[in-house]
Amino acid sequence: MIPKDHPRYESLMLRAKIVDAYKKGILADSGMIAHGRGEAFDYLIGEKTTETARKAERAGAAALLLAENPVISVNGNTTALAAELVVELAETLGAKIEINLFYRTASRVEKVEETLKDAGARRVLGIEDEEKGIIDGLEGPRARASLEGVYSADVVLVPLEDGDRAEALVANGKTVVTVDLNPLSRTAKTSSITIVDNVVRALPNIIQEVAEFKNYSDDDLKMILENFNNDQNLEESLKIVSRTYIGDA
Ligand code: ATP
Ligand code: MG
Repeated sequence: MIPKDHPRYESLMLRAKIVDAYKKGILADSGMIAHGRGEAFDYLIGEKTTETARKAERAGAAALLLAENPVISVNGNTTALAAELVVELAETLGAKIEINLFYRTASRVEKVEETLKDAGARRVLGIEDEEKGIIDGLEGPRARASLEGVYSADVVLVPLEDGDRAEALVANGKTVVTVDLNPLSRTAKTSSITIVDNVVRALPNIIQEVAEFKNYSDDDLKMILENFNNDQNLEESLKIVSRTYIGDA
C-alpha cells in the first residue's frame, strides 16, 4: 500500500497500475520502460498540466470535433492508465476506439479489449478477426489498421505513439493528435498536434474542452486550429522543461 500522504503518491499509483497491467499480460515488458521515460519528463514539467499543454489540448479537442471519422488508437500503456477516460472521450465525441500494439500478440489484444469493455466500451476495433487495410510506410502487424477505424479516419488521437507510426499516419494524410511527455520524441515532432502532458491529465482536459466546444460553430473550431502552431508549442514545452530543471519554474 502506498500511503496517501506520500509526496509522490500520484506518480507511485500510476507506476503500480503499470506493474499490475504487466503482470496481467495487458502490457509488454518494454511498456514499463516507456512509462519510465514518461515519468522522467513528467518530473521535469512539474507533474502538472502546463498552460502550453492546455493550448494543445484545446487544439486537439477542436480537431477531434471537426473530424468526420475520429478514432482513438490505444496501446497497452494507455489502457493500463486510462481505459475509463478513453471510453468517456469516445462516447462524448462519438469516436471509435481501436487497439494498436507495438508488440502485438493475440492474447494481449484480447486482454486489452477485455479491459476496455470492462471500462464500458461498447465496441473495440483493431481486434484479430477483422478486415484490415495497410498503412503505407509501415511493416508487419503495426501496419494493419481497421478499415472502418484508423485506416479511413481523418483525425486520430494516438497517445504514447511510436515515432514511425505517427510519421506514417501523417504521411497518409491524417491529422494526428498525440499525447507524449517527451517534447523531443519523433512522435512529438512529426504529429500535427502534440500534447506534452501525462495521458491521465490530458484526457480529462480534452473531455472538458470537447464538452465546452460542443456548441461552437465549425468556423470557431477552425479558428482555434489556425491559431495553434505545433512547432512553437513544442518550443514552449522545451523551455518549461529546462526552466523547471534549473529551479526557476
Ligand atoms: P519516438 O518513437 O516517438 O521517438 P520513443 O521511441 O522515445 O519515441 P516510445 O517508447 O516509442 O518512445 O513511446 C513512448 C513515449 O510515450 C515516450 O516518449 C514517453 O515519454 C511517452 N510516455 C510514457 N508514458 C506516458 C504518459 N503516461 N503520458 C504521456 N506520455 C507518456
Ligand atoms: Mg519509439
